Amino acid sequence: MQFSKIIGQEEVKAHLIDTVKGQRISHAQLFLGPEGSGSLALAIAYAQYILCSDKQNGDACGKCPSCLKVQGYSHPDLHYSFPIHLAKSTRTSDDVFVEWKKQLEASLYFGLQDWYSALGNDNKQGTIGTDESQKIVKKISLKSFEGGYKILIMWMPELMNNQAANKLLKIIEEPPKNTLFLLVSENQENIISTILSRTQLVKIPRLKEKELSQYLVQHDGLMQEEADTYAHLAEGNVSLAYSLMEDKESASFNLDNFIKWMRLCYTRNVGETIDWVDGMAGAGREAQKNFLVFALSMFRQSIVGHYADSDLVILTDAQRQFLNKFSPFINHKNIVVLTQVLNDAHYHLERNANPKILFLDVSLKVFAYLKRK
Ligand SMILES: [Zn+2]
Repeated sequence: MQFSKIIGQEEVKAHLIDTVKGQRISHAQLFLGPEGSGSLALAIAYAQYILCSDKQNGDACGKCPSCLKVQGYSHPDLHYSFPIHLAKSTRTSDDVFVEWKKQLEASLYFGLQDWYSALGNDNKQGTIGTDESQKIVKKISLKSFEGGYKILIMWMPELMNNQAANKLLKIIEEPPKNTLFLLVSENQENIISTILSRTQLVKIPRLKEKELSQYLVQHDGLMQEEADTYAHLAEGNVSLAYSLMEDKESASFNLDNFIKWMRLCYTRNVGETIDWVDGMAGAGREAQKNFLVFALSMFRQSIVGHYADSDLVILTDAQRQFLNKFSPFINHKNIVVLTQVLNDAHYHLERNANPKILFLDVSLKVFAYLKRK
């Protein structure tokens, strides 16, 4: 990761570059910034710049063997440490390095929740434990492979337990020559004070909305107005902006799909319904469940008599016209049974029902109930 590829944060970049040019690299630094501000990206870019053997004017070259290794997450002198879900087979970061690398390759702006999902358990808090700190001490005590700096980037040091932190204290305080600790944190208060007092603070501010929206225009081809909206809703948090964009895409997909389905059910077109069912069966299980939840909310909103335009789902004229014509077909007589049908379908999908049979069955029931006045 080169500095030039990081969104905004010009002041932080300038400061970091200065420390290298002036040979004032403090050996333990705490990069502190809110989720989605780019703290981890900055730490990696800093490490790459320090390790680069052909430094350009204020940035790593991106082409030398060292840069290529950093960019491939395989530099032998750049180590990563991060919270994991402790289990028999996963004791240290190295045990889930494949998942970590995948996450870094997807985006450097992810948050803890994204990481836990990648580890396969959204609800379990991660830990940096004692086995990990022992391993760090070992790695840092080894001689540098390439003769330069040995760098450890620790993401979320606030999740290190007391014992683990205590094991690290001494080496952070009296590190071997040319060692650099970069701690990347979102929450200073949760970091053990003895660790905190041994680090130099690098404050990473929230990204300015303008910086983020400019990036979305250039990088993702958004229209200016749209980009401004996302940057504003996300308050400069890059990962949140992207997840809002995804939500909108799926909402618009669900709406078009819902309209198509209801047209088929209303006209009782069996042949085309079977095609539609085949299409649904090909979508993933999560998409199928999302669609059912979406359809349920559309039924409910038909009863209330209006479809709320949220900030993210903006109805087109065609969509609104359809829904206005459609809503009278949902009434107090059929809403209960239609809700039941969709809830049941959701329940069975979660228990791995065959989606082809399930969506055909649901469609036939909706055929029958839709016209009952
Ligand atoms: Zn280089």
